[in-house]
Amino acid sequence: MSTPTKILILGAGGFIGANLTSRLLREGRHEVTALDIENDKLAGDLGDSRLTFLQRDISVRDESLEALVQDHDLVIDLVAMANPSLYISRPLDVFHLNFTENLRIVDYCVRHRKRIIQFSTCEVYGRTIAGVLGKPPEELPFPFEEDSSPLIMGPVKNHRWIYACAKQLLERVLHAHGLENGLNYTIIRPFNFIGPRIDYLPSEKAGNPRVFSHFMNALLYGTPMKLVDGGRNYRAYTHIDDAVEGIVRIIDNPGNTCDREIFNLGTPENETTIRGLAERMISLFDEHFRIPGDPVPEIIEVSSEEFYGSGYEDCDRRIPDVSKARKLLGWTSTHDLDSVLYHTMEYFVERHRSQAG
Ligand code: UDP
Repeated sequence: MSTPTKILILGAGGFIGANLTSRLLREGRHEVTALDIENDKLAGDLGDSRLTFLQRDISVRDESLEALVQDHDLVIDLVAMANPSLYISRPLDVFHLNFTENLRIVDYCVRHRKRIIQFSTCEVYGRTIAGVLGKPPEELPFPFEEDSSPLIMGPVKNHRWIYACAKQLLERVLHAHGLENGLNYTIIRPFNFIGPRIDYLPSEKAGNPRVFSHFMNALLYGTPMKLVDGGRNYRAYTHIDDAVEGIVRIIDNPGNTCDREIFNLGTPENETTIRGLAERMISLFDEHFRIPGDPVPEIIEVSSEEFYGSGYEDCDRRIPDVSKARKLLGWTSTHDLDSVLYHTMEYFVERHRSQAG
């Protein structure tokens, strides 16, 4: 059997979970139980008869979570605190949720022999070889490959790495359960997915979201775009629709090719420095969304200490090697960087203008 009918999505209310839930419901091939503490990103799907939404916190200890795992064919675990500012401000909460709580889910899957798709992170690769050698990342491009690249963490006092370490340890536990207990798992390492429903604007909600939301806020309100440490580091952005297509192929698991495999999902062609991202967003906004008289943000530089506090260390470059996803799933991204940025901006602009009336 390769196509499950009953899917339990933990963390379904977040950006990836909400987009995945919508896609699965649209296809109509599955019954979905979506569990999360929040459901505002799922608002458009809550009336669907194939969806059961459970407003629950997985860290609440009772037996119902285990019963839910037992009652489904496939568990997709997206529960995470996956925002760099939280790795700095709440490292222990980040560890407990991303490791301890997720480990319980893994244990239930082992006990009840359920397949699990575990979301991990591209941060498990850590630093680049160039970074370790003190060279600029341009000098030694180093695509990260799932089954051969080393995972290089920074020092303990830079507690940003607690997130990557928690995720890495969870991956290692899954692998060990695969070896010793026959657990059927697939691990996904997302490389900077963005698109509609990502995060929130800092003007809408307290907190420190990821870079796209900060820059978007700057475009809408004319506040400065802050380049942390000069915005010299690289990221490669993937459209959430491309990402969801990859995830659906992993769910479908043709010929069981995803069993006990790790997949990078990313778009190496969409690489940019953060400074390049700021400049590109300004020109796309000018071209498609700017209303005459809208404020124009200035680009300024801030130190990471000032922006995040102490304990931050950046990932200098993350180039995904996606040949495994291409070979085993026939998957490849279809959106270039401008298209990814355009669709994500459109989502925020529409929300902003409808709220402003
Ligand atoms: N960053 C920035 N300005 C901001 C927010 C983030 O220059 O307002 C930088 C951050 O230091 C990192 C990159 O943008 O180099 C991506 O950060 P993000 O928070 O999006 O998450 P990450 O990709 O590190 O998980």
